[in-house]
Amino acid sequence: VTNRGAIDLYRSHCRARQPYWLQLLERLVNQDSGAGDSPGISEAAELVRLELVKLGFDITSMPVGEPETPLLIARNKVASSAVVPRIAMLGHVDTVFPRGTATERPFKLDADCAYGPGVADMKGGIVVMLGMLDALRESGVLEALMVTVVINGDEESGSVGSRSSIEGVARQSDLSLVFEPGRPDGSFVVERRGLQRYRLEVKGRAAHTGVDPQRGASAIDALSRKVLALHELTDPSRNLTVSVGVMRGGSRPNVIADHAVAEVDVRVADMDTYTWVSEAIIEIAGREDVPGTTGSAALYAERPPMSRDDRIESLGGLYGDCAVAFGEEFRMTATGGGSDGNFTGALGIPTLDGLGPVGDGYHSSREFVRIETLESRMAISAAVMGIVSETGLPWTEAGIQPRQAPAGAER
Ligand SMILES: [Zn+2]
Repeated sequence: VTNRGAIDLYRSHCRARQPYWLQLLERLVNQDSGAGDSPGISEAAELVRLELVKLGFDITSMPVGEPETPLLIARNKVASSAVVPRIAMLGHVDTVFPRGTATERPFKLDADCAYGPGVADMKGGIVVMLGMLDALRESGVLEALMVTVVINGDEESGSVGSRSSIEGVARQSDLSLVFEPGRPDGSFVVERRGLQRYRLEVKGRAAHTGVDPQRGASAIDALSRKVLALHELTDPSRNLTVSVGVMRGGSRPNVIADHAVAEVDVRVADMDTYTWVSEAIIEIAGREDVPGTTGSAALYAERPPMSRDDRIESLGGLYGDCAVAFGEEFRMTATGGGSDGNFTGALGIPTLDGLGPVGDGYHSSREFVRIETLESRMAISAAVMGIVSETGLPWTEAGIQPRQAPAGAER
């Protein structure tokens, strides 16, 4: 299937533009945009918006969530109203690094690698996405695809404000591509565990420990029993982890605690367990472990699991063909970490993730990307999209018809 000449063309285009993309990556990395830092996230999003303008996209920008962060939804211009594959491409500009990090350890390049906060996750991923779109535009292929780029700024906080828009775009797409960094071994990501986060609150009754302890009901005692029960839900055979990462309560040593709270993080591989564990946690939270106490659990962030999809296996075949041309292997893997791909995958939209550059140390001060993978990942995705623009998505050949683009193709 693979057209070797086309791949070489994409590669040489991406190579020629590499200095430009490295400069953009430097500007993005040196703009702090830590989770919740609205002004910094807005600045970073603006850099991306300007690039999308250059690529000829129509962009809407709206503030979402609390604190407000910008959400960009950008659509390309499609040549005709013919049947065109509809592809969602996802990226986030926020990082896990607080303001000041970029000053402390700014973007740095050596012969092979680039370093700095968010250089892989996922400012490098966004640069790969933009470079790929640029290569497709340059070769006249972009207008044969219906691309919707979604850039959010609240991914590291659970995408609470952007989730419904991401899902809305996904529902109108045939394929979702997520430009999170590739795994350190170069693998693309086709499975991600789901996530649930709960705030557990227990109320008891305060009393003086010396004078009338029998009138008290210890929220700390009750919460401790709940924590033990929660941790017992962890089951490696089901790929389920339940962990209380934060616990607080009480006021003074001589007062029986009238309140206690905990934050619970749940990682889960499949939808059945996702539902089951949620019910179990709510039941444990509500138990009266200690007479006179009451408890409750509030779910404040969640990402359903993203499972392996047969259609992605067939797209993987195309990726494999194109990756080989770059001397790379195409491998698909599962990871415990979540991304916005969880939302699109859970809707049944074929989702391929980890399309960004390859490095290591994500979410740490060791974070880096291998520079050559910026270029190869741009060109590999461009080559696959080139094939898809001509032949449709692989599973449409197997009997699923691509849907009609709206008349005029102005969306
Ligand atoms: Zn990320």
